[in-house]
Parts: sequence; C-alpha cells; structure tokens
Amino acid sequence: MEAKQYVDGVLKEINKTNPGEKEFIDAATEVLNSLVPVFDKHPEFMRAALLERIVEPERQIIFRVPWVDDNGNVKVNRGFRVQFNSAIGPYKGGLRLHPSVNLSIVKFLGFEQIFKNSLTGLPIGGGKGGSDFNPKGKSDNEIMRFCQSFMAELYKYIGGNMDVPAGDIGVGGREIGYLYGYYKKLKSLSEQAVLTGKGLTFGGSLARTEATGYGLVYFTDEMLKDNKTSFEGKTVVISGSGNVAIYATQKAQELGAKVVALSDSNGYIYDENGINLDVVKEIKEIKRGRIKEYLHSVPSAKYEDGCKNIWKIKCDIALPCATQEEIDEEAAKILVQNGVKVVAEGANMPSTLVAIDVFQSNNVLFGPAKAANAGGVACSALEMSQNSMRLSWTFEEVDEKLQEIMKNIYHNAKNAAHEYGHEGNILMGANIAGFMKVAEAMMAQGIV
Ligand code: GLU
Repeated sequence: MEAKQYVDGVLKEINKTNPGEKEFIDAATEVLNSLVPVFDKHPEFMRAALLERIVEPERQIIFRVPWVDDNGNVKVNRGFRVQFNSAIGPYKGGLRLHPSVNLSIVKFLGFEQIFKNSLTGLPIGGGKGGSDFNPKGKSDNEIMRFCQSFMAELYKYIGGNMDVPAGDIGVGGREIGYLYGYYKKLKSLSEQAVLTGKGLTFGGSLARTEATGYGLVYFTDEMLKDNKTSFEGKTVVISGSGNVAIYATQKAQELGAKVVALSDSNGYIYDENGINLDVVKEIKEIKRGRIKEYLHSVPSAKYEDGCKNIWKIKCDIALPCATQEEIDEEAAKILVQNGVKVVAEGANMPSTLVAIDVFQSNNVLFGPAKAANAGGVACSALEMSQNSMRLSWTFEEVDEKLQEIMKNIYHNAKNAAHEYGHEGNILMGANIAGFMKVAEAMMAQGIV
C-alpha cells in the first residue's frame, strides 16, 4: 500500500472512532500527515500497524473528584489520566486544571507528549491528565482539598517507574506539593520520582520553574543563530503570563530583546517601553492577581479586554505561551502582514493547522510546540534522574544540560527534515525525529 493512502486511511478511522474530539483529531492529523515520507521509506512500519497502535492510548482513566468548598457545599469534578505510550519510558506529562479540560484535550496533550518527550532524548513515555476544576478564585484550602481528592484516585495508577505527572495550566508548585503530600500519605512511602515540579526542599530540581520558558528561548535562539540573526534588538510579543511566559520573557530580555506584551485569560497589556517583569512576577507569582493590575504600577502601559488583538501588535518574534488554538488563520495573517519573522510555540498547539500553513507559506521561521516547549518536561526528566541518584545538581548544571538538550532538539529536527526531503521544515522534522525513536522501540518490543 502507498504510504499516503495508509496515513489517509488511519486518519479516516480516527475521525470515525473519536467523534467530537476536535483537538485530538487536529493534533493527530498534523503529526500523521508529516509522517508520509517515513512510511515511504519504512513499509515494515505499516505492516506492524504502527500508526493504528500509536493513536490508541495504552490506558485511559476517568474518575469522579468530589470535594467540599469553604462554605460546606459538595462539588464534583471529572478527573482524567491518559497513559498514551510507554515504549521508551514511564508515562510522563502534566496535569491541567482548567474548566475547558475534557477527554479530547487530555488526549491531544498526551499524544503530543509522546513525540515531545522522545525529542528530549531522555527515556520518558507520553501521558497527560487533569480535570475540569477551575482553580480561579479558589482558596488555598479548596485547592488542597481538591488535590487530595484527585490524588485519592490517581495514586493507584502512578509511580516513579509507571507514570510521573507534573504541572501544566493551573498546576504549579503549590498543587504539586499538595498532590505529593497526599500520595506519600496514601502509599506510606517516600517515592520522590512519582511527581516532578516538586518544591526544592523535597526533591525538586533547580531550574525546573524556569525550564519551559528558558528552553523556548534557547530553542528559538538556536533557530535564529542558524539563520544568522539573534534576539538582540528584536521586538517580541508573548501571550500568557504563567510560568512559561514569565521565564520566556526573562530570558528573551537577557538576550537583548524588547518584550512588549503579555496576557491572561481576561485580556492583554502592551508596554511599548518593554515589560517590567518584576511587576508581573509580583502580580502573578505572589498575589495571584490579574494582568491588568500591571497598570497600577505602570500607568503608561495599555490594557485591552480579550486576547485576540494581542496578535495585532507589530513584532519581529511571536511566542504564544497561553493555550491551544490561540492563533487562528486571521491572527496568523495579521502577524505576517505586520512583518513577523519568527513564531515559536511555548504553549501546546497554540496555532491552528491553518495558521501554521499561513506561517510556513510566508517563510516565517516556525518552531513547533513539541520541539520548542520541550524544555519543561526535559527538566522534569532531569529531576527524576536527580531523585534516583539522591542528589541535586546546581542551577548552572541543570541550565547547561537544558541548553544542550534544546540545541540538540533543533538540530535533530532540522536534520530529520533534510533527510526526509523537507529542508527547513522544523515542524515535519520534529514530528519525524520524535516518531522515529518511538517507532524503533515499538518495533523491537513486538505487538503490544
Ligand atoms: N506540562 C508540561 C508539558 O506540556 C510539562 C510536563 C512535565 O514536566 O511532565 O510538557
């Protein structure tokens, strides 16, 4: 059978068997379409039904999460953990707490995680989880009770050699602390490598907090250098104001760029003089407030409700670090019209499939999420290594390893694109390079 026909057939089947799962189907479509040249070269992969197996999670767990709010009301949320692929190591991937979370979103994130984790070069499989719980406006005690109830079910399915969750949207150091504490209580054992993103006093890694944002900028910097340019003097628009956006801003500023915008789910700020990151950190990391409070400290900045128009700001480099599908066709066209040269994804799947087409057909350098934002999970794997060795590396040691990993990801993706006849297409290259390692492991392990 022709490779193209094979891939089309599997995509048709996915559409039939996963009705309504738009995010998962989009993620699978993007990856599968770029694998056609691989199946051309490796017909044995088709005979082993590699694609049919890789799009089917190894295990999906959906559970009830009841908890009691501060007023004594009983609330019920839905919890998820999708253990997608363990060919190269234990399932690894974050937990997302956001009202939009459903099975399709967890599956899309888990599917992406398989290839992202493979690209890091470290032995971690792909998984993801979360809940439709909305952490916005909840007290510390409510967050703790939710996390404990979530873990009261999840603990049965995870472990340092089995499945290692971490943070994602709505899950940071505070939540990982509560989840870890309850896991330890339930299992009566101190198994540090069961979760990553832990506090530094109980097995966390230095630089894990910064890793996704720093990694994004290291990756982008390598892409810029390879194209004979740099961050120096560039205007950058970054969406989001969570962990990824904050540390991407910090590193981009260190490399001489001017970051002029950040956002949250309510709206965005524009500061033509360059964002004052200390102000943002105070609002977001300490007060857990809203981005519009930036204007209390910097009244010359502008704030607009809603996030769509952030992409109308003229910039050289756009780093979407908020959430999936935040750049649609229209936003991509405006970015191109305004002269954007580089788009690199800090969030997972922030550009729609059509938006990616717009970037690529207009020669915008495009750094796809699974390559560009792999720094976070890479550092998580380094945290697992440190836990196994029962020692901890310095910030500089971890940061150095992270830089090396991000550079390697860029060059491996670039080389794979070249090898498979799609010179310069980092999206295809990342999909192919990530896939090859998983494919070889799956071939070696028989039909499982
Ligand atoms: N949620 C992050 C991601 O999308 C990190 C996952 C992890 O550290 O396991 O890659």
